Amino acid sequence: MGNILLIEDEIGIARSLELPLQQTYGHSLTHCLTLEDALQTWEKGSFDAVLLDLNLPDGNGIDFCRAVRKSRDTTPILILTARRDEVDKILGLELGADDYIVKPFSPREVGARINAVLRRRHWDIQCENDSVIKHCGIVLNENRREVSVRGTPISLTRTEYRLLSALMKRPGWVFTRDNLIELVWDGNFVTDRVVDSVVSRLRRKLGRMSSGEKWIRTVHGTGYAMADCP
Ligand code: CA
Repeated sequence: MGNILLIEDEIGIARSLELPLQQTYGHSLTHCLTLEDALQTWEKGSFDAVLLDLNLPDGNGIDFCRAVRKSRDTTPILILTARRDEVDKILGLELGADDYIVKPFSPREVGARINAVLRRRHWDIQCENDSVIKHCGIVLNENRREVSVRGTPISLTRTEYRLLSALMKRPGWVFTRDNLIELVWDGNFVTDRVVDSVVSRLRRKLGRMSSGEKWIRTVHGTGYAMADCP
């Protein structure tokens, strides 16, 4: 179920979609007849997907697509077109449309396509979330293997990265040096001194928290843990 923006100047087509999309698929539908109305409605609202006709009385739907993508918005856009030969042109323009549907179409086809893009998007968002670990101002992106502190990227060696990742996955948990050797060095033989020196290099790269304390705290007699947020 989603909030759908339908941009279509042919009342008949809009009518044919309204009821099925709302009742059968449970979406809520906002309908605009013109490009101008669509751009204004877009600014004010929040939509999960857009159904976009290209030939509008006051312009081309492509301009809507451009405006949305220019602002780096990735909301799915499905193009409605009457001309099959237009499809190649649309795709060739790389406007960032997600799918297209050739008229005449059945409401069922439109419903299925919308559900497909919504599912895909849901999955994308979840993937993105899964791969990012945050602790106070540190953000670690596991897919890209990138770390930033308060928005500033920092460059870590493989070992430093693995150590930080282990600590951040269980904030507050106190890791012994043996735990860390297991997790970061795969249990290979390294001395406690090596662990300590990687921690101290990592601390230097991370800088200090806004409170002035270190991001990684020493737990005397035990090991290391991420510090609590200030
Ligand atoms: Ca039209």
